[in-house]
Amino acid sequence: MAGTRAAVIVDRDGVINDTTDYLTSWEMFHFIPGALDALAKLNEAGWLVVMATNQSVIGLGMLSREGLDDVHARMRAAIEEAGGRIEQVYLCPHRDGDGCECRKPEPGMLLQAAEDWDLDLSRCYFIGDSWRDIKAGQRAGVTTILTEGVEDGRPQEQLARLDTPPDMFVPDLAAAVDAILEREAT
Ligand SMILES: [Mg+2]
Ligand SMILES: [Zn+2]
Repeated sequence: MAGTRAAVIVDRDGVINDTTDYLTSWEMFHFIPGALDALAKLNEAGWLVVMATNQSVIGLGMLSREGLDDVHARMRAAIEEAGGRIEQVYLCPHRDGDGCECRKPEPGMLLQAAEDWDLDLSRCYFIGDSWRDIKAGQRAGVTTILTEGVEDGRPQEQLARLDTPPDMFVPDLAAAVDAILEREAT
């Protein structure tokens, strides 16, 4: 049965933090300018925020599950310090070819979030910087927002891999949040 709540689902790498390589320690985690304020803004506006992140770094054996949980605990503490809140972090530890249902572009993490948080996916947003995020969002039936990410030429590359374009395309998380709040206010 479809849920009733709305939520904003966010990707991690390239949206919240500026990592372009596999992140294997908290020392590598740098918040993208404006990201912390944007998350606080969502919280103040009453939005439920969860994260859905592919972390094949686990499946590849580059970081332990405990190590990743530690990174996420520190990330969430920093976000809360700034006035924001991530209610839950969904992560896929698998690699391409493992055949799991959670690694984006599969929609498994979004569907799990919907079940856990009683979400009406048609009222939810997914913000990500990869074609994988957009495709997962489209499969789950949420409104999709592509951000430019932190690598040169990235948006063009991502858009080229999508049959259906994202609902919105903006520079970064801050712009995505502004777009959501503006759209929901009308
Ligand atoms: Mg990303
Ligand atoms: Zn998975």
